[in-house]
Amino acid sequence: MKYISTRNRNRVYTGAEAIVKGISDDGGLIVPSSFPIIDGAKLDELCEMDYPERAAEVLSMYLDEFTRDELLDYARKAYSRFDGDDPCPLVKVEDGLFMLELWHGPTYAFKDMALTLLPYLMVASKRKLGDTSKTLILVATSGDTGKAALEGFKDVEGTEIIVFYPVKGVSAMQKLQMTTQEGGNVHVAGIKGNFDDAQTAVKAIFTDPDAIAELKKKGIEMSSANSINWGRLAPQIAYYVSAYCDLVTSGEIECGDKINFVVPTGNFGNILAGYYAYRMGIPVGKLIIASNANNILTDFFNTGKYDTNRNFFKTMSPSMDILVSSNLERLLFEVTGRDDAKIRGLYDSLKKYGKFELDLEDADLGIFEAGWADEEDTREAMANFFDLDDYVLDPHTAVAASVYSEYADETQDETTTVIVSTASPYKFACDVYNAVADAHEDDVEKAVNKLMLFTGAECPEGILRLKHLPVRHNNVIAKEDAKRAVFAFVDEEKKD
Ligand SMILES: *Cc1c(COP(=O)(O)O)cnc(C)c1O
Repeated sequence: MKYISTRNRNRVYTGAEAIVKGISDDGGLIVPSSFPIIDGAKLDELCEMDYPERAAEVLSMYLDEFTRDELLDYARKAYSRFDGDDPCPLVKVEDGLFMLELWHGPTYAFKDMALTLLPYLMVASKRKLGDTSKTLILVATSGDTGKAALEGFKDVEGTEIIVFYPVKGVSAMQKLQMTTQEGGNVHVAGIKGNFDDAQTAVKAIFTDPDAIAELKKKGIEMSSANSINWGRLAPQIAYYVSAYCDLVTSGEIECGDKINFVVPTGNFGNILAGYYAYRMGIPVGKLIIASNANNILTDFFNTGKYDTNRNFFKTMSPSMDILVSSNLERLLFEVTGRDDAKIRGLYDSLKKYGKFELDLEDADLGIFEAGWADEEDTREAMANFFDLDDYVLDPHTAVAASVYSEYADETQDETTTVIVSTASPYKFACDVYNAVADAHEDDVEKAVNKLMLFTGAECPEGILRLKHLPVRHNNVIAKEDAKRAVFAFVDEEKKD
């Protein structure tokens, strides 16, 4: 399998290069040159497998430089860090409605599905390319990626990781998870600004020729663990395939029946993986994009206008507080018939004017629906699902549940539906407890305890343990100082 850039179809990469580079030299995203197909026979085979085998199988269709055994070894190691036997259980909440719980990994959010595996893929990719440089992972996080990347890369030989998070844009729990991070190769800094400021700062460093040259002198190359990295996206395709298999093997659907997926969406990585699974042949009815009050995607899918000149809202679902959904570029590339010139034009416009417009007539978007939920809708979904289904939703998943309820009411669509559940409710204990119990608790520790008592839902050990850990990372910087901070961290490391 070869890979190409969304901004230049003639710029070709191998899978290993895609994973090591993260982003194309021309600023485009790296995408597979075609979609491998899962036919009926293959789907039958996949149904017989456990999750690590399914993941290895899907990955091997894209990463032919790796043997199936290598990939299986990485998948087994990665998913052994998850609680329970099944890393991503499919839980039935109502007839025809399922939660795909992707948060049983080390940091209790769906990012673990990919970030426990990515370090193995990255280190092996470098080895295959004969690259002996040290890898510097730079991450901008809206909350969950940062912690998951820190856990994935901590003490991985030949790597160094720096995470920037928006100081006021993450939950108390997310912040505590990051500032208490252990490991000899990890650095964390708060940025005064929102997620887009952090992401813009990191993107600027990645494409800064001086920074690249100066790091090279030190034997260091940068790479990204953000959801634009192919090594993040590829493992995510697997759980869409696996959820389909689980519905077949449990007798909920017949092989070949279409199902819907509802995905709480921020940077568009998760739902894009669902789209890729669909393009590989998984029978999908609708892919439903759920946004919070930052509903730029809803507007785009309804009007073709993507305009970042708008208010930015801080919500209870911070991992979706995003105005520039990076992975949308990969979708636009596909739905415009891989028109790289058009993509270049759109993204030039985004850079210059903060907006672009696509004629929806020219784009094949029929598989998608888009909706959004405000804070009140989100609280209501948490309360209702607990009251009616005895199921506790985190605020991100609640956005999806709310959008789905509205969709189902409006369309009367009775297709079997999977809501992609992206975080443990305990990660957002205050907002969840306040919604289900109609309370006003703003102390995280108390909210965790009260949520346990009130709902009886099990709380992950790692969350209970957090309060005993010392804070190790106190840095807070202005967004203009991100580059300086990178070099300070790198030099500090050399002195050790
Ligand atoms: C990252 C994240 C999302 C958004 O996923 P994208 O791939 O960025 O669209 C949703 N919910 C949670 C809990 C997340 O951590």
